[in-house]
Amino acid sequence: MYNFRYHKAETIETARSLIEQSDDPKILAGGHTLIPTLKQRLAQPSDIIDISSIDELKMITVGDGFITIGALCTHSDISNSPDIKKNITGLADLAKQIGDPQVRHKGTIGGSVANADPAADYPAAVLALDGEIITSTENHKATNFFVDMFETSLDSDEIITGIRVKIPKSSTYKKFRNPASGYAMVGVFMARYEDDVKIAVTGASSSAYRMLDLESSLKSNFNNDIMADLAIDITNFNDDIHASAKYRGTILKVLLEEAILELK
Ligand SMILES: Cc1cc2nc3c(=O)[nH]c(=O)nc-3n(C[C@H](O)[C@H](O)[C@H](O)COP(=O)(O)OP(=O)(O)OC[C@H]3O[C@@H](n4cnc5c(N)ncnc54)[C@H](O)[C@@H]3O)c2cc1C
Repeated sequence: MYNFRYHKAETIETARSLIEQSDDPKILAGGHTLIPTLKQRLAQPSDIIDISSIDELKMITVGDGFITIGALCTHSDISNSPDIKKNITGLADLAKQIGDPQVRHKGTIGGSVANADPAADYPAAVLALDGEIITSTENHKATNFFVDMFETSLDSDEIITGIRVKIPKSSTYKKFRNPASGYAMVGVFMARYEDDVKIAVTGASSSAYRMLDLESSLKSNFNNDIMADLAIDITNFNDDIHASAKYRGTILKVLLEEAILELK
């Protein structure tokens, strides 16, 4: 590790002011990505602003068709939340499939979304649930938030305070895990609304994305028959030591079929 100054912020205001006063600050939440990055000397921040004790970022609130999940909610908080289990089964199930118990008890949704790992699970859910990323300065629509691999529309001084998602009629998350890392080789989140269907994919390419054409086909005819003629465009798919682009395309098709059958 390189040397840095460590600060523990007890409120969002303190965290904001510490960020303002620092040359090159980094926020620390669960630390499951940031600490390994520091240990490997892949980052050299001047200051670490530890926000993990800010209680107001640990709430899950349900209101008027939406659920707001505090940025510091861990994957375990999310998978065990009665409100999320009842209203967005797919999201509770997704959180349950992340990493191992240690990761699930420390890793946070805010940290995961800010990190924008191309194989992370939440980006698919946040996109398919018409989500908004709420920060200390503004709200970002999920559709504009995930820019590229490890790149978001966040400014360096912004703190994610919560993620707001729209409650669907039903939802599911289908994941094909990388057997070594447990991350998504491909993951599909599908949400059905009264008169809409939203589908987002993670793991397949450099950033999570929505399948707009399939959404509109399924909106008029929610049936697995549609899949027979569906050609998956693998042009921008990852092709690496874990899987070829073609293999990822095949997995995606299978996961989509499973999701449709479950939500039919
Ligand atoms: C062994 C292992 C297995 C894993 N498996 C999976 C998996 O299967 N699926 C999956 O999706 N993830 C997986 N993860 C990732 C993990 O789930 C965490 O979500 C992820 O590491 C980031 O969350 P964190 O709270 O630890 O963030 P941190 O490591 O604290 O921070 C990560 C980044 O986000 C920034 N950040 C954190 N919080 C905020 C905030 N509120 N506002 C703005 N910026 C912020 C930090 O500055 C840093 O750049 C795994 C991690 C490990 C170590």
